[in-house]
This record gives sequence, structure tokens and C-alpha cells, in this order.
Amino acid sequence: MQEQLKTGLMSVILPAYNEEGSVPRAAQVITGILSQAGISHELIFVNDGSRDQTWDRIQEQSAQYPQVRGVKFSRNFGKEAAIFAGLAQARGDCAAVLDCDLQHPPEKLVDMYRLWQHGYQVVEGVKISRGRENPLHTFAAKTFYSAISGATGIDMSRASDFKLLDRKAVDTLIAMREKHAFFRALSSWIGFSTAQVEFAVQPRLEGESKWSLRSLIKYALTNITSFSAAPLQLVTLMGVVVFICSVALGVFCLWQWATGQALEGFTTVILLQLIIGSILMICLGIIGYYVAKIYEEIKDRPRYIVAEECGGRRDDGQAEKTV
Ligand code: UDP
Ligand code: MG
Repeated sequence: MQEQLKTGLMSVILPAYNEEGSVPRAAQVITGILSQAGISHELIFVNDGSRDQTWDRIQEQSAQYPQVRGVKFSRNFGKEAAIFAGLAQARGDCAAVLDCDLQHPPEKLVDMYRLWQHGYQVVEGVKISRGRENPLHTFAAKTFYSAISGATGIDMSRASDFKLLDRKAVDTLIAMREKHAFFRALSSWIGFSTAQVEFAVQPRLEGESKWSLRSLIKYALTNITSFSAAPLQLVTLMGVVVFICSVALGVFCLWQWATGQALEGFTTVILLQLIIGSILMICLGIIGYYVAKIYEEIKDRPRYIVAEECGGRRDDGQAEKTV
């Protein structure tokens, strides 16, 4: 018996931050590939507070292609916010997310769509190579991924933001109320029937990567703490370790006192003060980080603010479907 294949509109979400050079190429390449494969589609560019001509380029593309739309943030809110804004805007039966610099090969969108047609609800792009990067970046990324994989219990080492999600998965994600959503991990966490498509990260043709070492560290800390409470348990663990050491030292000191040789060991006292002091500071810092997170979540501010939208004329029949 022939399997019933799903068909439907695919929304392609492209976060863009200072990508004036990449936007026209992305629109042209992606619409070309998807039209040729006979997949009805819409493109949603999310301008994440770019300081260059990105928004003008997006407006030009939306004037040229009826299936291209644009959303402009009032300032830079970060890639995660841009992805969620795109998901909220998507009218498709499935939605794909890929980098606007085309480091995620757009040909793979067709493979992802075919898997979706066969009933998979989450299709993950899995990196087989990280592309050309400087060694420091590779090291930072490796450290980050082993930390987050350990903290979340999800293997993130080859994960990327290149994904295709069924409407159900999209709706589940946008219904989540947490402000610091970590798309890459959350889209695995929600479950659903999942397939994987391997891809090699392409070299960046235009502009440069937006990640500085500082922003990577911030990204790592934000995402680990928003996805996992493991660092808080680390505080307890450190407490236990210090307690065991202090019991041992306590016994030793008492023994010294009992045998009348108690004056020695002033260096030990100084060292102990320093070590315990710094461990306490670190622990307070970790707890403080989570308190700050609670504070931010409880303020219930929006994840992003949309300043302007463009494109999405409904009279063309292409992007007809509403959610
Ligand atoms: N991006 C974004 N907001 C940001 C930083 C990046 O929307 O604050 C977008 C960027 O335009 C690109 C994607 O996220 O489409 C990936 O960024 P980038 O290429 O700089 O990262 P890399 O590929 O080096 O990991
Ligand atoms: Mg890139």
C-alpha cells in the first residue's frame, strides 16, 4: 500500500544580524531551490536590530518575491529571540530555521521537507564538520557543548539551529513561556518523532561571524543556566567536599592540640581562609545568577519587540494560509 505523504507550506525562518550582503543571496538561492523541488514556501527574515542596510535589503527582497516577508526588531535581541519571532510569524504547516549566511546548506531543506512528508515532526540538522573556524573558537565551542551536554543530558556536540519543525512542534515551542528559551536544546526536549539530516557547515561568504569570545561565554552561561539547575547542585557538591576536608583537618588539629604541638600551621590557616572564601564567593555567584534569572523571568517582559514588518501580501495565493 502506498504511504500517504503530507504536503503543505514550508516557512523558512532566517535570523539576520548585520547581513546586508547575505540577504539577497539567501532569498535568491532558497526560493530557487524550493521552487525547483516543487515545495510551496514562504521566507521570513528577522532583522535582529542590524546596524547596516539589512532591513533595506529585506524590504527589497519582499517587494521582489511575494513569498518573502520581513520582521524588524526594535533593537538587537539575539538569535534565539529572532528564531522565536520567526516561529510566531510562520504560517506554514512546517517551519525550518537556518542561518542567513547560508552556512547551513539550503539544499538540505529539501531532504528535511521529504522526511517531514513521511511523518517526522522534528528534523534536526546534525553537523558532520564545523567548517573553517579559528582554533580558539573551536575550543570554546567544544567546552561549551560538553558543559551543556553534561548539564542537560542531551548530546549537543553536533547539534545546530538548523531544524525543520512540524506545526505541532512549532505551536508547542511558542506556547512555552520561558523568556530565555534555548532553541537548540528545547527543540530536542519537546520530543516528537525525530529524524536527522547530516550537513557540513559551509564557509561564510559574506561578512563575519557575530560571535566574539565574550558573547560565546555569555551565550554558554545564559543557556546552561536557563536549561539546567545542575550548577546549583555543584554548589552542594562543593559544600560536601569542603565539609569532608574540614572534618579531616579538624581531627588533625585536635590531635595536635592534644599532643601539645598546636602552634604550627599558620600557613594552613591562611590557605584555608582563602580557599573557603573563594569557594563561598563562587557559590554565591552561581546562586546569584539563578536569582537574576528568576528576577528576569518574573518581570515578564516580551522576548523581543517588533518595530516593523514588511511583505506577506495575501493576494498572491502563496502565503495564503493563516494559523
Ligand atoms: N544572528 C542574529 N542575532 C545575533 C547574532 C547572530 O540573528 O545577535 C544571526 C546571524 O545573522 C546569522 C546566524 O544568527 O544568520 C548565525 O550567526 P553567525 O553566522 O554570526 O554565527 P556562526 O555561524 O559563526 O556560529
Ligand atoms: Mg554563520
